[in-house]
Amino acid sequence: MFDTVLIANRGEIALRIQRACHQLGLKTVMVYSQGDAGAAYLQHADQALCIGPAAPGQSYLDSRAVIYAALASGAQAVHPGYGFLSENAAFSQAVSDAGLTFIGPDAACIRRMGDKVAAKRAMLEAGVPCVPGPQGALPEERERIEAIALEIGYPVIIKAAGGGGGRGMRVVHSAAELLPAVSLTREEARRAFGNPELYMEKFLGHPRHVEIQVLCDRHGNGVWLGSRDCSLQRRHQKVLEEAPAPGIDAQALARVGQRCVEACRLIGYQGVGTFEFLYEDGEFFFIEMNTRLQVEHPVTEMTTGIDIVEQQLRMAMGEVLSLRQSDIVTQGHALECRINAEDPQTFIPTPGTVTRWDLPGGIGVRIDSHVCAGYKVPPYYDSMIAKVITHGATREQALARMRTALAQFAVEGISTNLPLHRQIVTDNAFVAGSVDIHHLERWLSTRQAES
Ligand code: ADP
Repeated sequence: MFDTVLIANRGEIALRIQRACHQLGLKTVMVYSQGDAGAAYLQHADQALCIGPAAPGQSYLDSRAVIYAALASGAQAVHPGYGFLSENAAFSQAVSDAGLTFIGPDAACIRRMGDKVAAKRAMLEAGVPCVPGPQGALPEERERIEAIALEIGYPVIIKAAGGGGGRGMRVVHSAAELLPAVSLTREEARRAFGNPELYMEKFLGHPRHVEIQVLCDRHGNGVWLGSRDCSLQRRHQKVLEEAPAPGIDAQALARVGQRCVEACRLIGYQGVGTFEFLYEDGEFFFIEMNTRLQVEHPVTEMTTGIDIVEQQLRMAMGEVLSLRQSDIVTQGHALECRINAEDPQTFIPTPGTVTRWDLPGGIGVRIDSHVCAGYKVPPYYDSMIAKVITHGATREQALARMRTALAQFAVEGISTNLPLHRQIVTDNAFVAGSVDIHHLERWLSTRQAES
């Protein structure tokens, strides 16, 4: 049990977690870097502690500083949010070793799911459908690598076992490109992730990104909370998400959802997590599991009525899951636009001072943001400054609410990607639903060519 939670993150998610803690009667400690000093959202915490300079490596990624802050402030639990230390197995272990509760799965689970080769093996064992390709890492011998690619059939994708954030992947269209691509990716993986292990799978040409949220307690109970579609991506970064994923057969989805819960039971998973799939021609293919809260969790909250962060905290406190699968009913449709401080044409970040911040509102509109007029967007971190979430009885209604919300959201002082979102939500293909993961980039290059 714990009564004080240290929030090892910043920005909107720190505030999101703080609200859930207070609603449960828990006290909060927020840590911040010098780059976030003076930010208004820190005032909502019961205590705020500076843990180092603006550079993430010396503050939000410095596990020793975070744990020291927890011990010094009397916090008994640490919530890592997303990004930063949230999927760092050594951090989860260090938090436990310090006698604190890590709000997330244990180190062994994070390590296993963070190694994509091990994760894929565990999923296959649990009967979760995976992208075609051999189990296990790529061998070193050229002939064997070539034989594997031939057996899968081109195009294939080479991926780093330790990869993440859309890095450490290379698509190969023909045998001539194969070995150079393997060497390059191996070298990149060694440098970026400290792990040269690679694997190969079929490259799917026009998949959608569909994911399943799960929630598990420490007593072997778990539920899945419906689907999300995050196909609108640029450079593998999600831009707009929705729940449920449109046009997917309910029974097929339920089968996969149930498999995900069984996989959690098999690996002893605790807390919230997400199974990410590519979905093509009516079939699901597992690509990875995120062992943490995700940016897009609000669309699931709006459609299920379940406060995912509250549940996450309850599970970490050792409560028995009060929800059964039959209690999970999704209602209507929800959308989320990620609003970034960036140029809507070039995507270059635009840090600076926000001089006007007029938020939209009304029925079915939710804003998750730590920003206010006068807030200075620091240049050191991710450029997301707000999430606009709308919910409606139907996808059409959620979209109409999103169009109105985006039109009324007024930001001055810095450029944002609001104009891009305003265009996306009127794009015919997106409005029709079920676009694939390449749609946004195709749409952007057409826009580029026309301008
Ligand atoms: P990361 O952990 O870096 O996000 P993922 O394995 O989740 O890596 O893959 C990121 C993105 O790369 C996917 O959302 C998809 O767009 C693309 N991708 C990954 N694997 C495949 C594949 N087998 N076929 C087609 N696209 C893929």
